[in-house]
Amino acid sequence: MPHRRLEPGKLVIASHNEGKVREIRALLAPYGIEPVSAASLDIPEPVETGTSFAANAELKARFSADLSGMVALADDSGLCVDALNGDPGVYTADWAETPNGRDWDLAMRKVEEALAAKGPEAGRDAHFVCVLSLCWPDGHVESFEGRAEGTLTWPPRGKVGFGYDPVFVPLGETRTFAELEPEQKHAISHRADAFRKLVAAVL
Ligand code: IMP
Repeated sequence: MPHRRLEPGKLVIASHNEGKVREIRALLAPYGIEPVSAASLDIPEPVETGTSFAANAELKARFSADLSGMVALADDSGLCVDALNGDPGVYTADWAETPNGRDWDLAMRKVEEALAAKGPEAGRDAHFVCVLSLCWPDGHVESFEGRAEGTLTWPPRGKVGFGYDPVFVPLGETRTFAELEPEQKHAISHRADAFRKLVAAVL
C-alpha cells in the first residue's frame, strides 16, 4: 500500500519526555511542520500496555490524535542489552521509576549491576531501538523503526542528551551519546534512523 503523505501544518508530538520532544523538534525543523507538544494541549500520557515498541508507539500516537483531532507523532524507544536477552527493552523507562519520579542514574546503575552479575564473558553489546508512529485523526497509522548499535560503558560520561545516553557508546565512536554534540547524535541515533525512514516514506 502506498504511504500517506504528511502535509505541512500542525502536528502533535505525543510525548512528555523533554529529551525526545527536543530531538523530534530538531528533526522536524526543515520540513515546514509546526510541532505542538501534547503537554501544551493538556493531553495526558496513556498507560503503555503494549509488549512491543511498535504497539506502544501506535497506542501513544492514536491517543493524542483522538484527543487533539490533529496528526500525532509518537516515539517509543528503549535500550536492549544483548547479555540481558534484550532487557530493559520496552520496559526501559520502568527501570528508572521511583516513588519520587524517574531516576536515570539509578536506571543506569541497575543495568550495570545486571550486566556485572552475568560475568565478564557476557559482553557489553547493546542497541537502542526507536519506533516513530504517525497517527491521523481518521485512525490511519504509519510506523518506522530505527536502530543504533553500540556498547555500554561504566561509569557514565557526558552531560548532553537524556536517559541512558551517558553509558552508550555508539559503534565506531569512543564518546558516549551524552558526550556528542546534538547534531552528531542526530546523524547516527536510532531516532534519526527511524526519522530518515519516515521522511523517505511520508514527506
Ligand atoms: P518510553 O519510550 O517513553 O517508554 O521510554 C523509553 C526510554 O528509553 C526513555 O525514557 C529513555 O530513558 C530511553 N531512551 C530512548 N531513547 C533514548 C536516547 O536517545 N538516549 C538515551 N535514552 C533513550
